[in-house]
Amino acid sequence: MNTPPMANLANYAVSENNSRGRIVKEMPSFGRSEFQRDRDRIIHSAAFRRLEYKTQVFVNHEGDLFRTRLTHSLEVAQIGRSIARNLQLNEDLVEAISLAHDLGHTPFGHAGQEALNECMKDHNGFEHNLQSLRVVDTLEEKYGGFNGLNLSFETREGILKHCSKNNAKKLGDIGKRFLTNQRPSLEAQLTNIADEIAYNNHDVDDGLRSGLITLEELKQVSIFSHHLTMSKKLYPRISGRKLIHETIRSMINTLVSDLIKQSTINIKDSQISNLKDVSVAPTLIGFSERTKKEQQELKKFLRNKLYKHFKVARMSSKAQHTIKMLFNAFSENTQLLPKEYQIKSNKDKYQSIADYIAGMTDRYAIREYKRLFAVEGN
Ligand code: MG
Repeated sequence: MNTPPMANLANYAVSENNSRGRIVKEMPSFGRSEFQRDRDRIIHSAAFRRLEYKTQVFVNHEGDLFRTRLTHSLEVAQIGRSIARNLQLNEDLVEAISLAHDLGHTPFGHAGQEALNECMKDHNGFEHNLQSLRVVDTLEEKYGGFNGLNLSFETREGILKHCSKNNAKKLGDIGKRFLTNQRPSLEAQLTNIADEIAYNNHDVDDGLRSGLITLEELKQVSIFSHHLTMSKKLYPRISGRKLIHETIRSMINTLVSDLIKQSTINIKDSQISNLKDVSVAPTLIGFSERTKKEQQELKKFLRNKLYKHFKVARMSSKAQHTIKMLFNAFSENTQLLPKEYQIKSNKDKYQSIADYIAGMTDRYAIREYKRLFAVEGN
C-alpha cells in the first residue's frame, strides 16, 4: 500500500511521480511516502543522534538552553514545512532535507569547520555539505543491501547545497548542476532559506541569553527594533524573556510570510510549470528586496557583535587548536586511529582522518584530545 499523494502539490513541486529515485532500487514502503521514508532513515541514523552534542556558535558545555545542531535542524524543519505547505511544495521532502542538512558538520561549529578545511587544504579540502552527502551515501552502516541510507535523489540534491566544481565532477548526476549552472528543486531552495531564518533568529535569542549581546545594541538593527516596538504596543506589560520571545516570534512570522509572498510572485513571473522550468530559472525562493536588506543588516550585526565577540573568539581558537592537534597526530601516526578508521591504503589516509574528526561531537573531541595528549588520559 502506498500513501495517498499529498494534497494540492503544485506541478513544479517534487513528487513521487517525478522523483529520480534511489541509487539502489527498493520496493515501496508500506504506508509511507518515499520522502517520509528518507526522513525516517535520517532520524534513525547515528549521525543524526550526534547532532545533539554538536554546536554552531556556543560550545555544548556552555549551557543547556543554547541551540545545538539537533534543535537547530528541528527548527529548520518546522519553518521549512510551514513554507512548503503554503507554496504547495513537498513538505515531506523539505523535512527530510532539513533534518539531514547539517549531518556532515564538524564539532565546534564554524571554527571546527575552518580548522578541518585548513588541515585538508593539500588533500582536496573539507566541505561540510559534501561531508553530509558522504554520511548519507557512504558512512552510515545500517542496511544490508547498500552502503549509507540510499536516499532519494531529491533529498541528496537538497543536502548538497554547495560544492566546488572540482568535487562536483567526481559526483556524477548529483554534482551535475554545479557544472551546468542549474538550480535545485524549489524544496531544496526553500530549505536553504529556512536554515537562514532559523539561525539568524536563534543566534539573536542565544546571543541575548548569553549576555554577549544586549537589547540596547540590538535596537540599532532596524528589523529587530521594528518588531520590538510592535511587540511592546501589543503587550505593554511584558518585559524580559517574554518580550524577547514575542519580538523574535514576530520577526520569524514576518520573514516567513514575506518569503511566501515574494516566492509566489517569482514563480508566477517566471511562468514556472514543471521541474525542468525550475532548474533553468534563476533562484525562485527568496525574500523581497526590502527584507533582503534588513536580513543583511541583521547578519552584519551578528557577525560583528556575536561571532567576533572575544569570548566566542577564545572558544573558537581553542576549538581550532583541538582539531588541528588531532589531525596532526593522526596524520603522523595512523595507528592512533580507532580500528574502523584504520586506513586500507595511503590513498584513503586523509579522507579517513577527516571522516573520523568530522563525526566527533564537541565533547568527544575534547575527550579524544585528553586521551591523546594528557599524560593521565586513557
Ligand atoms: Mg544549518
